Amino acid sequence: MTFDENAKLKETIRKIALLNAIRHEGKAQTGPVFGKVLGEKPDLKTKVKELSILVNDVVREVNSLPLSKQQQIIEEKWPESLVKEKVEEEKHLPQLPNVNKYAKVVTRFSPNPDCVLHLGSARAIILCYEYARMYKGKFILRFEDTDPKLKRPVLEFYDRIREDLAWLECKPDEEYIQSDRIPIYYEYAERLLKDGNAYICTCQPEQFRKKILASKPCKCRNLSSEENLARWQNMLKGEYKEGEAVYRVKTDLNHPNPAVRDWPALRIIDAEKYPHPRVGSKYYVWPLYNFACGIDDHLMGVTHIIRGKEHLTNMVRQEYMYKYFGWQYPEAIHYGRLKITGASLSKSKIVQGIREGLYNDWDDPRLATFAALRRRGITPEAIKKMIIDVGPKTSDVILSWENLNAYNRKFLDPTADRFFFVNNPIELAVKHIPKVFKARLHMHPEHSEKGFREYTIKPKGNESSATFWVSKKDMDVSKVENVIRLMELFNIKIENVSEYSADASFVSESYEEARSAKAQLIHWILVGEDMPCQVVMPDATVAEGIAESACKQLKPNSIIQFERFGFVRIDKVVMKLIAYYAHK
Ligand SMILES: [Zn+2]
Repeated sequence: MTFDENAKLKETIRKIALLNAIRHEGKAQTGPVFGKVLGEKPDLKTKVKELSILVNDVVREVNSLPLSKQQQIIEEKWPESLVKEKVEEEKHLPQLPNVNKYAKVVTRFSPNPDCVLHLGSARAIILCYEYARMYKGKFILRFEDTDPKLKRPVLEFYDRIREDLAWLECKPDEEYIQSDRIPIYYEYAERLLKDGNAYICTCQPEQFRKKILASKPCKCRNLSSEENLARWQNMLKGEYKEGEAVYRVKTDLNHPNPAVRDWPALRIIDAEKYPHPRVGSKYYVWPLYNFACGIDDHLMGVTHIIRGKEHLTNMVRQEYMYKYFGWQYPEAIHYGRLKITGASLSKSKIVQGIREGLYNDWDDPRLATFAALRRRGITPEAIKKMIIDVGPKTSDVILSWENLNAYNRKFLDPTADRFFFVNNPIELAVKHIPKVFKARLHMHPEHSEKGFREYTIKPKGNESSATFWVSKKDMDVSKVENVIRLMELFNIKIENVSEYSADASFVSESYEEARSAKAQLIHWILVGEDMPCQVVMPDATVAEGIAESACKQLKPNSIIQFERFGFVRIDKVVMKLIAYYAHK
């Protein structure tokens, strides 16, 4: 290789290493860089040994630079590669089956308003919404609120669910509430009875169970439709008590899954004891999930049901009913389970925790509710992107908070303004400052157009000193005699560190000097240019500290980065700044 060729190759490796580094928080990984170089220059396969040495050198050099510098180099020298990277990353949903069979794709999301929504619903909502958009179709929101006893709906949640969808930017084109549609379900229930495809069972549950497990009909199954219709009228009038009569749809008694055999479709609920929050005690007979949902999917023209694979048995049940009505079952896509490790996605545990005061509210940072994610500064874009990348595949997927955080970081990092927050602050007095300094702290390392905030450091007294807040974590005894750099300001030498304060002397101004001395860069706040600040962490503990005075201008809901601390969402700006922590 000539000198020129070598230099050219080195530059190629540098570009690949820098791109890799900015995707891995400033640390390029030798393996992937090496692989990518070979991918671009396959002829080098004969020179793997030399190449490996070269890659190692370049990666080491790149990793010694701060992330902001790495980004700066890429933006200056190879801005086009950033655009290309983004395009390559864009993933699309696979096509839906049999779209051409239908005039318009219609999907639906159908929550029970018995709790707020959480991350566990994200897949259903986003896939249904995105598919409707992809085919210029229709996305329906349907409240399935027909169990006033065990899955009791609560008025407040109808609105909270609407808010959550609006926040996720998945606004429905149409909305239905099942408790408004009870007469419709009655009408279809009657039709099945008339045709002899359903019956009212008055057997003791235990007796019925024995029969059905043995694939035998109970004594009600073969009654005439007149007798069944009479029983039905009595059911509607409230002449049976809860549990005394159940409406069942006939299926194959020999179906291999006993749970499918003659499934219950409507039942009686004590309307006085369990009034419905919307319709009160108006109805005694309430449809069960499979019945109401199956009828609605057909009547609302749903063409593609996209839901978790735990619903597979429900489809088998509903198909009997569809056959009786002469309807065609919609296309059904059953995706695998999505688990988020460390996130409790149990509605009942959330509700119980709130009731017992374990959580402060629906947006307690320990919860994975959309309200909590919103409060912490997790963006809907990040959730959307994560779900689209996972797609509708049938295999189970396990994600972690770190996965979601990584998606969120990708959205926040390029735009969030930077500020200084000193957690657990102690005072640092710096002596022998030779002149007045003006520190210009850029709002964003890659966007100079975002401007800066400026603090003037005026040395005072005999010793020409100034006092700063610094984090206790950055000031331990082991650092005495070390040179460190106050970011964007100057270099100092630590002289003394105690429990509540530290002393240092001015050393020099230049960044280069700090770099060659491998000085640690720490953030700081000038005493007097500060405001108290509390950051509520994801475990609901509070990180106490001091934010720089420029934070007084922040608006609630803005998401910023506290440098060397993490991304936070501004919750309140009063005498004190209250922020919620998103992630590193
Ligand atoms: Zn029976």
